[in-house]
Amino acid sequence: MRQYHSHIASAGPPALVLATDLDGTFLGGSPQDRAALYDLVRSRATEVRLIFVTGRDPGFIANLCADGAVPAPEYVIGDVGTTIGQFRDGAVVPDARLEAPIKRRWAGVPELVRTRLAGVRGLWLQPAPFRHRLSYQYDERFQPESLRVLDGLDVDILISHGCFVDILPKGISKGPSLLRLLAELKLPRDRVLVAGDTLNDLSMFETGLRGAVVGGAEAELLAATGPMPAAHHCTRIGAGGIVEAIAAHGLLENLPEVSA
Ligand SMILES: [Mg+2]
Repeated sequence: MRQYHSHIASAGPPALVLATDLDGTFLGGSPQDRAALYDLVRSRATEVRLIFVTGRDPGFIANLCADGAVPAPEYVIGDVGTTIGQFRDGAVVPDARLEAPIKRRWAGVPELVRTRLAGVRGLWLQPAPFRHRLSYQYDERFQPESLRVLDGLDVDILISHGCFVDILPKGISKGPSLLRLLAELKLPRDRVLVAGDTLNDLSMFETGLRGAVVGGAEAELLAATGPMPAAHHCTRIGAGGIVEAIAAHGLLENLPEVSA
């Protein structure tokens, strides 16, 4: 199981801490660009630390890394920021201390949310349970105003992909969870690159950390990050955009060529 520890072996401060979204970002772009980025991460493990920051859950990430096609991360912020853990021996191992504020805010909330949303037309709970979030799906009968039944609860509501409604503990999202993890690991903030492509990545860019809004990003994310000087708008899609932004921010030298 040594392969999973490759990024922890790095000595000294890293040149690059890549904190990246998965779908459309680290997993996006041409096969050549993905191979170039994954090879870069693997071959320069002493310089590069890898953190996944994703809406996906721990099971998905374990499957993704199982066959070695994608480099294993050192840490994972999953479930849109509501899971924080080390990636060890092929699995996400939640960190109870880092998750304590999340757990505290979520206590007792799921029951209230489920009860209040039970009668909403065109909205149903997704079958797969998540750790500190509730995930719903909706169809054309659904009216967003009907979510007002949640007024007064300590939750954040995330509507995405034209069919999903996620209910999260208030104030918990990718960006704040990433900052908590970086502080815990004592990683230098000026070496961090956050990368994403949709609105649920916005909180990462709002931290002010160096950023890669990769090519193919949602128009809403492009608009929201337009005024942010640290958020580089990439021309290349997905993984190619990450390599482009590493160069633009001057984080690593001798980078591979990525396709135009
Ligand atoms: Mg994405």
